[in-house]
Amino acid sequence: MARLPILHLTVPTGLVTVLFLFNLYAAPPIQWEKSSESQESVTSQSAPPTAGLMTDRLSPKQLRIWRALEQIALARNGAGQPLRPVLYELHSWAQTSTIPIYIEMPKARGRWPYLAGECLFDEQGDTLNTRPAAVTIRLYTTVIEKAPSRGRDFESEQAFIPFKGLPREERYCETLAHELAHARQSVTDPGFLPMRDRLKSMNDQVLKLQSLRLVSSVKKEMQAIADQIKVLTSSIEGPAIAVERAVWRELSER
Ligand SMILES: [Zn+2]
Repeated sequence: MARLPILHLTVPTGLVTVLFLFNLYAAPPIQWEKSSESQESVTSQSAPPTAGLMTDRLSPKQLRIWRALEQIALARNGAGQPLRPVLYELHSWAQTSTIPIYIEMPKARGRWPYLAGECLFDEQGDTLNTRPAAVTIRLYTTVIEKAPSRGRDFESEQAFIPFKGLPREERYCETLAHELAHARQSVTDPGFLPMRDRLKSMNDQVLKLQSLRLVSSVKKEMQAIADQIKVLTSSIEGPAIAVERAVWRELSER
């Protein structure tokens, strides 16, 4: 089955952006750095893990970045308490997840330059297709590094400016938290994947109307679809942005 992504952007989101995003489904697969070294390390393990956080798709250099992210996520204070409880708890959930959560850091080459992160769902989870069999999280590190700190529609409503005041690795952590929140919702909320499918179908409808140049003649229908897209996008993005904002606060305070 197709793996439909949820994309996380560093630019204002809205109807046009969302439509543009779903256009990206047809884009060719991304190339990411795969070294023979990382492949060997996988095959040399006697029983590789089949669930939890999976880092075998990362090159040695990317693996070092990942370790730095984990250090930030797992840091504790002098009393042994997690320094960043929301991020710590998310990481712990992912680490002990019953499904594999693959981490990738592909090059942004050939992709929309504002794409910071992506969450893809492998939909063989159950017969009703309400839970994914696996999740892939892609962090576009070079995009995240260069992303300007400015509010997007959702965030400005919640007084939150992504990446503001954060150094490189902490910016990656913020994006990771957003994508992990999507992953967790896809596993714990049976309504999540169907909701995502409805959003995709709404977008397809608009694209179809656009391609037939019917948009101006069906203004009322377009508005109804646009309203539904807005509601669905808020339902999908709202919880992830709330988590991202909480993690941004945790990271900013230290
Ligand atoms: Zn998102």
